[in-house]
Amino acid sequence: MNIQRAPGASRRLVLLIVLLVLLPVLFLSAYQIGTYSSSEQLIRDVYQRQLDVILYSLNQYAWDVSAHWAAALRLSLDENSRAPEAGMRAFLERNSAVESVVIADSAGGRLVLVSRDTAASGRALQESLAVHLRSERGRLDQLLRYRSLEYRKLEPFVLPSPVGGNVRIALIFANDSSAGLPEFAGLVFLEDEFIAKMLAGRLADAAGQEFVLAVFRKGQESPATASGPLRQDAILQRRDLWLFPDHEVVIASRGATLDELVHTRLMRNIALVGVLNVLMLAGVALIYRNVRAQVELARAKSTFVSNVSHELRTPLALIRMYAETLEMGRLTSEEKKQEYYCTILRETERLTHLVNNLLNFSRMEAGRKPYDLSPGSLSDVVRDVVATYTPHLAYQGCSPIVEFAQDDLRTVLDREAVGEALLNLLDNAAKYSGRNKYLRVTTGREVGGVYVQVEDHGIGIPPQYHAKVFEAFFRVPSGFVHDTKGSGLGLSLVKHIMDAHGGHITLTSVPEQGTTVRLIFPPVI
Ligand code: ADP
Repeated sequence: MNIQRAPGASRRLVLLIVLLVLLPVLFLSAYQIGTYSSSEQLIRDVYQRQLDVILYSLNQYAWDVSAHWAAALRLSLDENSRAPEAGMRAFLERNSAVESVVIADSAGGRLVLVSRDTAASGRALQESLAVHLRSERGRLDQLLRYRSLEYRKLEPFVLPSPVGGNVRIALIFANDSSAGLPEFAGLVFLEDEFIAKMLAGRLADAAGQEFVLAVFRKGQESPATASGPLRQDAILQRRDLWLFPDHEVVIASRGATLDELVHTRLMRNIALVGVLNVLMLAGVALIYRNVRAQVELARAKSTFVSNVSHELRTPLALIRMYAETLEMGRLTSEEKKQEYYCTILRETERLTHLVNNLLNFSRMEAGRKPYDLSPGSLSDVVRDVVATYTPHLAYQGCSPIVEFAQDDLRTVLDREAVGEALLNLLDNAAKYSGRNKYLRVTTGREVGGVYVQVEDHGIGIPPQYHAKVFEAFFRVPSGFVHDTKGSGLGLSLVKHIMDAHGGHITLTSVPEQGTTVRLIFPPVI
């Protein structure tokens, strides 16, 4: 019997697990890791687009505010076309964020400026505007062309302050041609003030919890206004402000940078896939071990049934044949008759031993094997068993050498169970003795207690099976064992019995040299 090697079934099992579980899992993991970069790119794109929308909405807001002003100014001028200055003043009263309003023609002529500022700075502004309008004829002509297409474009002109201080923005648009007014009108406001007053609140709204929005004058390190503290390396996007060409608006993440966010996510996902794979592999390994054990057990059981049947059939056939011969009365020699009786007795004993082992095993399996433990003499048990079993051993060609300790070896034991254990050891020693029929039974004391030991010079057990031989149904898969009958239950019963006694077993065995099994019982305290 061979329950160690089940190459066909095991290989099929491995193949099945690899095909059904490991390959799909590995494929899925590889696919997921492979597509991470593209899905991360997708996320990055969506993110960038979202940022674009935020920046766009801010630009749009500034644009809407100024377009609203322009429309209001146009209305005021229309209503007061005869006295435009009155209309301009009325507009200024209603819109406190606007510093001045202007009307002028394309050459900067007929320039009327109404300002809430002092007369002195008003004059300086008037001159600055006239110079700009004259020098930017191209842009003004473009505004007229737009007007002919019914499009009221606002054109920003940056008016740097002559002596430092505030930069002004003039938003110029084309007037209605019919009103008899100069061709252009414009709103003038302080850039910083507009940004601080009109955009700051809006920045905080648009930034939300996740981002910081800020407006920078181009080339400057610190922002003109920001919705919160801002780290330069956390800036995600920057866009020009349509209304203020010398300013840009930036969006930054509050914590990590975009790359850090994406990278952290990527790493977390890969780690997750890794952990899942490890769990999956551990699960597969566990399933494999279990299924393999089950397959081996099923195989062992079926081999066991055929082994046991064989073990039953041989003695039964012998008993029947000898009994029939005796019954027919053909044997005349008393000696022969005696020999036949002996054989029948021996085979019956063998059957009894086998059936006992089977019954004990099934009780042991069901957890119903009772032990009647009481203080007693190990020496007595050993002596009785050896004496009873010696004729049987003799028949197998073994005459045991006995070396018993002088003193009485006392321990707590179940006489019957210990007898069975010893019987199994003697049976094995005789069965697996090969050509050298040496068999020695020793009792004695050692550090941990008292012992009985059975030694043979038989076929031995290869080292890799020393632990396995104590498992139920296990039989060493190679060599002479196949020629010897056995159920594979003997040593597992011995182990169960020794466990119940709180004792232990040592096994020393070298192939071709022999085996020594020692049963050690705890001493009586
Ligand atoms: P079995 O009915 O097969 O003898 P056991 O449980 O008693 O079952 O033993 C398990 C296996 O251990 C045996 O099949 C045999 O291969 C090996 N074995 C046990 N005792 C010996 C021994 N004294 N010498 C060599 N091999 C042994």
